[in-house]
Amino acid sequence: MAETNCASAAVQGMPPTLDAILAVGTNMGNRVENIDDAVRRLEADGSIIVVARSKLYRTAPWGVTDQDWFVNACVGVQTALSPHELLKRCQAIENDMGRVRTRHWGPRVIDVDILAIRDRQICDPDLVVPHPFIAERAFVVVPLKDVAPALTIGGKTLDDMIEALDASDVTPLQ
Ligand code: AMP
Repeated sequence: MAETNCASAAVQGMPPTLDAILAVGTNMGNRVENIDDAVRRLEADGSIIVVARSKLYRTAPWGVTDQDWFVNACVGVQTALSPHELLKRCQAIENDMGRVRTRHWGPRVIDVDILAIRDRQICDPDLVVPHPFIAERAFVVVPLKDVAPALTIGGKTLDDMIEALDASDVTPLQ
């Protein structure tokens, strides 16, 4: 994870009903089912309650572009878990869903990232919050706006970020 200037990443406008916002994405298999599966797994032991879901978006691959299209979404959650406990849960879901039930480990079918935790700023080696790449990725900002329209990061609104990006490849699935 790149070095981040946490001082410039102050978060405001988090909906008061939410403790954290997570981003979920997948580009393998039944993508809609993968997102639903990840949400079910988040809620499985009762320590995380999903109280807001963005629309599902079909998005073009970013970075490595010679791969299949993605479905991306954001979820708003209520939880008393610590930030690192929440990260562990996200990583456990990635690992569990990436497991192919034959002989070998298969590729990962889901990505679960922490975008924001209330107005917390965390700059640990294994956890950076708010997620440092939000403003660079239309496939994150567009669904994020569905669950937290008034959010600002470092003084930038989500609309500021969307205007600076090409969001033409981020389209609602429904
Ligand atoms: P990725 O492969 O993109 O899911 O990145 C996973 C790595 O990013 C892990 O080593 C995490 O410890 C680290 N990481 C840092 N900040 C975050 C965050 N806000 N959400 C999820 N992973 C994070």
